Amino acid sequence: MLIEKNLLKGRIEKQVEILFNKSIDEANSFEIYQGLSKALIETISKNWLETRKKYESGKQAFYFSAEFLMGRALGNNLINLGVEKEVKEILKELGLDINIVEDAEEDAGLGNGGLGRLAACFMDSLVTLDLPGQGYGIKYKNGIFKQKIVNGFQIETPETWLKYGDVWTICRPFDEVIVEFGDSKVRAVPYDMPIIGYGTENVNTLRLWEAKSINELDLKAFNDQNYDKALKEVNEAEDISRILYPNDSTNEGKKLRLKQQYFFTSASLQDIVRKFKRLHGTDFGKLPEFVSIQLNDTHPVIAIPELMRILCDVEGLLWKDAWKIVEKTFAYTNHTILSEALEKWWIGLYEEVVPRIFQITERIHFQFLDLLEEKYPNDRAKRERMSIIQGDLIHMAWLAIYGSFATNGVAALHTDILKHIELKEWYELFPERFLNKTNGITQRRWLLQCNPELSNLITELIGDRWVTDFSQMKNLEKYSADKSIIENFLNIKLEKKKQLAKYIEETQGIKINPDSIFDIQIKRLHEYKRQLLNIFHILDLYYRLKENPNLEIHPVTYIFGAKSAPGYMRAKGTIRLINEVANLINNDKDIKDMIKVVFIENYNVSAAQLLFPAADISEQISTAGKEASGTGNMKFMINGALTFGTLDGANVEIVEEAGIENNYIFGLKVEDIEKFKKEGYNPNIPYRNTVGLKRVVDALIDGTLNDEGTGLYKELYDSLLKGASWHKPDQYFVLQDFEAFRETQERINKEFSNRENWGKKAWINISNGGKFSSDRTIDEYAKEIWKIAPQRI
Ligand SMILES: *Cc1c(COP(=O)(O)O)cnc(C)c1O
Repeated sequence: MLIEKNLLKGRIEKQVEILFNKSIDEANSFEIYQGLSKALIETISKNWLETRKKYESGKQAFYFSAEFLMGRALGNNLINLGVEKEVKEILKELGLDINIVEDAEEDAGLGNGGLGRLAACFMDSLVTLDLPGQGYGIKYKNGIFKQKIVNGFQIETPETWLKYGDVWTICRPFDEVIVEFGDSKVRAVPYDMPIIGYGTENVNTLRLWEAKSINELDLKAFNDQNYDKALKEVNEAEDISRILYPNDSTNEGKKLRLKQQYFFTSASLQDIVRKFKRLHGTDFGKLPEFVSIQLNDTHPVIAIPELMRILCDVEGLLWKDAWKIVEKTFAYTNHTILSEALEKWWIGLYEEVVPRIFQITERIHFQFLDLLEEKYPNDRAKRERMSIIQGDLIHMAWLAIYGSFATNGVAALHTDILKHIELKEWYELFPERFLNKTNGITQRRWLLQCNPELSNLITELIGDRWVTDFSQMKNLEKYSADKSIIENFLNIKLEKKKQLAKYIEETQGIKINPDSIFDIQIKRLHEYKRQLLNIFHILDLYYRLKENPNLEIHPVTYIFGAKSAPGYMRAKGTIRLINEVANLINNDKDIKDMIKVVFIENYNVSAAQLLFPAADISEQISTAGKEASGTGNMKFMINGALTFGTLDGANVEIVEEAGIENNYIFGLKVEDIEKFKKEGYNPNIPYRNTVGLKRVVDALIDGTLNDEGTGLYKELYDSLLKGASWHKPDQYFVLQDFEAFRETQERINKEFSNRENWGKKAWINISNGGKFSSDRTIDEYAKEIWKIAPQRI
């Protein structure tokens, strides 16, 4: 046992006393949350120190990511520490409910969606596998905005997770470093979050940097009563870590964003190099023997020229020696092929913000041109396609591939598309650099913590080894023919649906039927994810029910949760549309609750933990080839939802593992889409020929639906049938896939009524989820990319 119950109780009381000058009986739930969290940190601090020292002896991996979507820490840490039961008892003795205390914690929303949540799952897996791996990122003052739905529209309000400070991040003032921009310098102040593993005493670290100004306020300006000027420098410095850019899969190309990227990568590299020198001296040739750095997408790729700067300008190495080191230190993860996501920086901006880094980037660019000339003499066209600097843009993905020893995609299909389509020429040039690492999720948060009921059943059947070895799940499969166990599972599912229904009624005032099919699509709102296809189908079903009141269906509750980037008008139009259709259907007495539509406000990690366990159907309906992996699909699967999806991203591997017959696959495949692109696609054909489709599409513009004069619906309509200057009509094949979508939904609806058969399919999915643990993913990164081994304290 980590700590004796009464000792922990005493520590909680003491911390509440220190922090709030209160006795426990006076403290509110937030104060108890803070006191308890501090008491836990006190309990693990010795292990944290020992882990750091242990890791310093060997090679370490560093995960550079602009986003870490951590969610709440307390509940997860209680489980990982194995003190949940004791803490529950302690709180009970004090007359407190653990759930209320946990709810006092704000989500650490330092990310947008899948990419940021992946980084968070990786942190959990690294430590649980005792691997010497550390995260580096930014301590945004405001993480992802809070979403409010007002009259069906998304309204963004600032998120304030740091309003009263965050107990789980601890300032390390003496590890501060200075980051230099072209026109200014700022202090980078590190805050460390302990990452607590399951079944291990190791405690890893996530280091998040906060930007601070070098000088305090300008006293002269202050005395002259020029207050804005007095605080100008302070504000400009602090702006750097003030906000997370709320765009998922789009690149804005803004100056502050570039500053953020350079800020955290420079600070992290300075930290790494300083530590390397302390431990190993200045023999930098050995750096790759002790350090591997993973670049999570292109956001931290500016680290490549920055390490060149540190090695050459600061440490005095020769360029060619430094380059050899850099090339062996970095590895790059590609997360998307969407062109709007590929980061390109305008050279003028880049040069202004980081002039020295610009010079170094240019030199890397010319060095690469030499390599191309050597391999492909006189091939001008190729040189133009592959140049790092093209015209006046710096292509960060190209810089990433050239400056690192490994480039990986995040699911088998995605890596294939990279190798053979999107990055074909790069694969030909560097075949040995390309590899696949299919994403995963941590079963500790996404099953053990969010679904204790199902977890208990699993543990009763196969023991608890699955918590740290998810391949054990396969041992469940033999129970798929056991009627009483399937019955148990279905009862648990019903219980989770009731819990979600209760939450929805309490927070949004909508009553839903737990016996209906819970069909859930939760993810960022993006055209390629095709929430529009889903809502079109719902509207079509509504019209069919109105026309034919005798239409027999099993009742369905369609649940959405999604944030839109604030400036992404089509996504915002889709949110408004979903909410309007929800209102129309939910208030129509004719429908008699046969279908309901719910839009969950402010979808985040904590909401996700309630939603995944309650799903019957997992909507994974992206245009084939566009969703690199998806991780939501995996969370649904291991909680016993059936995938309704296209053959895209990790859906391909999900059905490979669990059987296509136990899921619902529909629609165009990558090859079909390639063919359409070659031979031409006319969305008017499905629009005119698919029964009922014209009716729902036209509802956008014929007065049936009302966007309050915003023009949002017309814009959606045009995106499908007219296109725009930057794309062809219906570029995501919503209309072409509608028919197959509807047919497959009909099949689902029929088959759901066979309870036992449905339960069996869900069970087979759960049993075959083993591959999708981030423990498996991280084990692969550790062995095949980073070459690090477990170091248990
Ligand atoms: C898992 C997760 C995601 C990623 O979902 P996808 O369906 O893979 O896009 C996004 N946001 C949150 C809060 C998540 O937990």
